[in-house]
Amino acid sequence: MSTVQVYLFTSKSTHRDQIKQLQQRLEALGCPKEALQIVDVSEQPYLAERLRVVATPALVKAYPEPRQVLAGKDLLEQVDYWWPRWQTEAEANGQPPPAVTSPDVARLEEELARAQLTIRQLTAQVDFRNQVIEMLAHDLRNPLTAVSIALETLEMAPQRQELAPQLIQQARNQVKTLDRMITSILQVSRNQQKVLQLNPQAVQLPEVIQQVAQSFQTLLASRQHTLQVDIAEPCPLVFADPDALRRVLNNLLDNACKYTPPGGQISISTLHSTTLKVQVTVADNGPGIPLTDQERIFDPSTRLANHNQEPSGYGLGLAVCRQIIQAHYGRIWVESEPGRGSRFHFTLPVYRP
Ligand code: ADP
Repeated sequence: MSTVQVYLFTSKSTHRDQIKQLQQRLEALGCPKEALQIVDVSEQPYLAERLRVVATPALVKAYPEPRQVLAGKDLLEQVDYWWPRWQTEAEANGQPPPAVTSPDVARLEEELARAQLTIRQLTAQVDFRNQVIEMLAHDLRNPLTAVSIALETLEMAPQRQELAPQLIQQARNQVKTLDRMITSILQVSRNQQKVLQLNPQAVQLPEVIQQVAQSFQTLLASRQHTLQVDIAEPCPLVFADPDALRRVLNNLLDNACKYTPPGGQISISTLHSTTLKVQVTVADNGPGIPLTDQERIFDPSTRLANHNQEPSGYGLGLAVCRQIIQAHYGRIWVESEPGRGSRFHFTLPVYRP
């Protein structure tokens, strides 16, 4: 008897006759009924994500290990090719298949995948907090030291009145820096709690993009930037927390406005590249980011030194964006070349009713 075990991933867009054909083919190849489980991706999205199923129908060989995913137009031919090989592997393995005590092992796997995601998110939160605290302890000291030196100098040299305005100005600037740091830290703390309490739902991405773009009109005008919004139609509903999504777009647009010299060209566009993900891109024609920094700008506290302007953040924005996008099972990254602008991309899952 065959000991191979497979999942057949389907979705609303998979035609019934396709599923039937596959089932019949598996049966003809000698696959017993209990060795095949049919899984709907909308009911078990975490499992689909964990097994990297990006299109349906897809056949996942769960046993013997390693797992293997088959998908694509020639799925039937692939099954014909692989099934006998899997059977040979299973027989050579000699081990009995894992005991199937419940008819729905896939559901248990789904729960396990969900729990693993929560653990990963919690661990990432703790690591992130630790990094922020470490950075704080280190960095708050500099402006504090500068303020106390300015005050001590004022105190010790009351006769040098001409120095007073300059020292007071220095102390003020340092206090502003402290204030900016503390605001950023408080924001991270608030965002962190929200990242843990994401409330994903069906979201009209074009609507959110237009709202965020609208809210940037004043800032864009003050820096004489132009903003182009380019949404590939039809754009499917995405499964996301709308507030968190707004925060990510806000951060990316804010950076594009901030780091691009006046008169820049900024754009937001979408791409619906697979049936499961939508890609959003925020691009600018600013200074760009060297290859060596493209990963570390997503770490907390990374501010690159080569921008000749007043910093207005504390290098936490992109770290928070990454946390939010990862909590949505998405990816965020940048493509850039110094002098040729930056393109920040992120992906979101498509909503499946
Ligand atoms: P902040 O803007 O507060 O410094 P971020 O985490 O948002 O923090 O960004 C980290 C760093 O990445 C920035 O300090 C800047 O050096 C770089 N960066 C981010 N966005 C852009 C951009 N659009 N163009 C050039 N550099 C950027």
